[in-house]
Amino acid sequence: MAATTTNGVPSRRRRRPHVLVLPLPSRGHLLPLLDFAHRLSTRHGVALTVAVTASDLPLLSAFLASTPLAAALPFHLPDASLPENSNHALLAVHLSGIRAPLLSWARSRPDDPPTVVVSDFFLGWAQLLADDLGVPRVVFYASGAFAVAALEQLWNGALPLDPKISVVLDTLPGSPAFPYEHVPSVVRSYVAGDPDWEVALEGFRLNARAWGAVVNSFDEMEREFLEWLKRFFGHGRVWAVGPVADSGCRGEERLPEAEQLFSWLDTCPARSVVYVCFGSMYKPPPAQAAALGAALEASGARFVWAVGADAAVLPEGLEERTAARGRVVRGWAPQVEILRHAAVGAFLTHCGWNSTLEGVAAGVPLLAWPMKADQFIDARLVVDLRGAAVRVAEGAAAVPDAATLARALADAVDGAKCGDVRAKAAALAAAAAAAVEEGGSSRVAFESMAKELETACMSPSFG
Ligand code: UDP
Repeated sequence: MAATTTNGVPSRRRRRPHVLVLPLPSRGHLLPLLDFAHRLSTRHGVALTVAVTASDLPLLSAFLASTPLAAALPFHLPDASLPENSNHALLAVHLSGIRAPLLSWARSRPDDPPTVVVSDFFLGWAQLLADDLGVPRVVFYASGAFAVAALEQLWNGALPLDPKISVVLDTLPGSPAFPYEHVPSVVRSYVAGDPDWEVALEGFRLNARAWGAVVNSFDEMEREFLEWLKRFFGHGRVWAVGPVADSGCRGEERLPEAEQLFSWLDTCPARSVVYVCFGSMYKPPPAQAAALGAALEASGARFVWAVGADAAVLPEGLEERTAARGRVVRGWAPQVEILRHAAVGAFLTHCGWNSTLEGVAAGVPLLAWPMKADQFIDARLVVDLRGAAVRVAEGAAAVPDAATLARALADAVDGAKCGDVRAKAAALAAAAAAAVEEGGSSRVAFESMAKELETACMSPSFG
């Protein structure tokens, strides 16, 4: 039902793509998708409309200021009764309530309708919206290809899983096995027969019907899993375009404390500091924070601990006792910049995919402490398959032995003890940098994705 011009040619044929961007309102998902959309728009002159909850609108201000062809489409959640701490899958189901309003919005603008839908991979229902609009949909995966492949096998296999049995991902390269507790929590949370969970499951399965898939990863990091995804989806439109981070559209406010932090880092020897951060959501329970604090103290290593908004997790007196060699960041830490500072030599991370990639891109060896979600898979990738990380603890319930963790922290910044991991991290970082340079695999994938998208928008098979 493409509109026609006076000469009868479908107007869509002469239009540049107009992308309707549907993010999941969670920073770990929203930020890389914005980075990707910013690049698509500024490099290829693509118009964007980003649907965002009214409460998240402020998170878009720097993006909108730096992306001239982008506009926000704020909406209110259909029902404010979403329980606190609801997981991402149920949040995505909740957000499906905006599908009908989005369809009406798109139909109310016959002169400039969206010609592509790009959505976060949790928003599988966006496929139905794209079908209704007769436009291609691209799924944006904010997780790595290994985790995405694992999720595809799991969502499309027999569910629910039996908690007594380890899961063998027998269709994936190397047939990796995971104890039940290390299977992504979103899959373990699935409740058969629960109406919301059945909608969530259908949504995840709908992703396989998307026209294309963009993964925030790069060939050298995950080649075998990217190939697996191409076979699984049955087409080659799987583009690894990462690392996408840091396109300058995030606009995080630089706090005055950050200036002091960087001045202090400038005084530290190269690779002598351990950076500690568990992402944008995780708050360690008191026993865990106490063990970590004790380990940082006992390690004798320099450190920066980004504790997040709730500094109550800090063991009492830690800051004072370690003032000569440690810094605590309250609130939002400038993580990418910290990781890139020459003084930072190791990153104690929960292995959220963004953090994993940011650490890899900075060439900083990771100390992996996966907590939940896809983090055990990310840890398997960087520790066991790529050798650029060391596993130091596992699980949100783990309370590591402080002395053992202290040794791991100290070794991580001791060149004589971490040489091998350091070398592998440096090689991976070089590959990440090469991937996004002119002619690199991610750059080439991005360009061909943009070109194919433009062609698909004009194809009579859509619309
Ligand atoms: N982040 C940051 N400062 C903080 C905490 C987090 O910049 O104080 C960023 C981090 O750089 C990464 C994202 O937030 O880009 C966290 O995403 P990730 O996938 O690592 O973990 P999640 O928050 O989704 O658990």
